[in-house]
Amino acid sequence: MSGNNQEKIARTWIPCPICGSEDSQPIYETVQYAGQTLGRMTTRLVLCGECDFVYNNPRPGDNTLAQYYESDLNASGQIYREASSGGATDKVHQAQLDFMVGRNDAPGSLLDVGCGRGLFLGRAARRFPGAEVAGLDPSNAAAEIARGNGLAVHHGSLENMADGLGTFDMVCAFSVLEHVGDPLGFLKLLKPLVAPGGHLFLEVPESTHPTPGLVEFFNFEHLGHFTASTLREILVRAGFVLTAIAEDMRPGGRLVVSAVVEGSTEMEPPPRIDPAHEKQRFLTSLDHYKQEMKTLADDFRARLLKYISRWVEADARIGVYGAGIHTEYLLGVLEELAPVVYCLLDTDPRKQGRPFHQWKVYGPDDIVDLNLDAILISSQRFEDEIHEALRPHWEAGLTVIRCYGE
Ligand SMILES: [Zn+2]
Repeated sequence: MSGNNQEKIARTWIPCPICGSEDSQPIYETVQYAGQTLGRMTTRLVLCGECDFVYNNPRPGDNTLAQYYESDLNASGQIYREASSGGATDKVHQAQLDFMVGRNDAPGSLLDVGCGRGLFLGRAARRFPGAEVAGLDPSNAAAEIARGNGLAVHHGSLENMADGLGTFDMVCAFSVLEHVGDPLGFLKLLKPLVAPGGHLFLEVPESTHPTPGLVEFFNFEHLGHFTASTLREILVRAGFVLTAIAEDMRPGGRLVVSAVVEGSTEMEPPPRIDPAHEKQRFLTSLDHYKQEMKTLADDFRARLLKYISRWVEADARIGVYGAGIHTEYLLGVLEELAPVVYCLLDTDPRKQGRPFHQWKVYGPDDIVDLNLDAILISSQRFEDEIHEALRPHWEAGLTVIRCYGE
């Protein structure tokens, strides 16, 4: 056991989820705020001595995580997203679809496993008008929203549902594999769903491009951290052959790949991947990341303190946009911020009207009435989207400050 009495929840030790080896070495440890359900939690990454897979060990049990995803408003599946066109998510989905079209431009059927509210599925249905598209998601709330938008989405887990789903020319699982406790078992369940000659498409964060930020890149929700090499290895063990990598998405930190069932026909030569090189790339990038994370909090403080001193002087009314984990961290590294904050803002209607610490949370529609002097956007992933959504306000002269961008 970890022996750390500060941890709110018990964690269990596991052998390597890909190869089963118990030989591993710790390479990174971080303490992160894991939402209200889990509290502060240590996440420890280990490198498998056998297959080079990097995974969290020890980790919270499957039931603890299932409960977290079900109930915590900060859990990734719960994060409220608007289906805004032109947003970051839209661009990612279009790039994924472009890559898929390169493998098959007229699929007869497509299944999106872990489809959430169906944002990708809706775009896929428009891109492949003749195809039968279906989704599967363990969240009933998400599945209902998707169905409300006219999409055929099943509610349930892959474990319980795989048998009755049939086969598909395209099976997608985007931003899913890194969350799954047993990714090899998960891929084995996907295999019979891929029709003869069909393709499997996966997307995971690429561990060799960790993005420094106030919120840890090696998030506790991500139980496994893949490189091209370990992703290929797990695919092989599940009976697939990796056939292509979407190279233009890698600089953004996303590893998108296609695979076919072993033994099926595939004309493309498979991408060249050197396991030793991938492992070294990962370890080098991790070293850089550790250094950058050390200086990041200091840079944040220096940049934002300039604004805060001005706001204090002017006795300004400040709204912070984002009532979630990023703001928890921001308040943690910048204690000078709390006294100048008048209220919080959030796009998620479930958070609006509720307290977050000592502040009330408002929605974007309240901004005009709130008479704010400035808004500080507290988000990394959605910073551009929120900034764009606030366009009418900054065009009208309201000061809008980003944490990361200029
Ligand atoms: Zn291993």
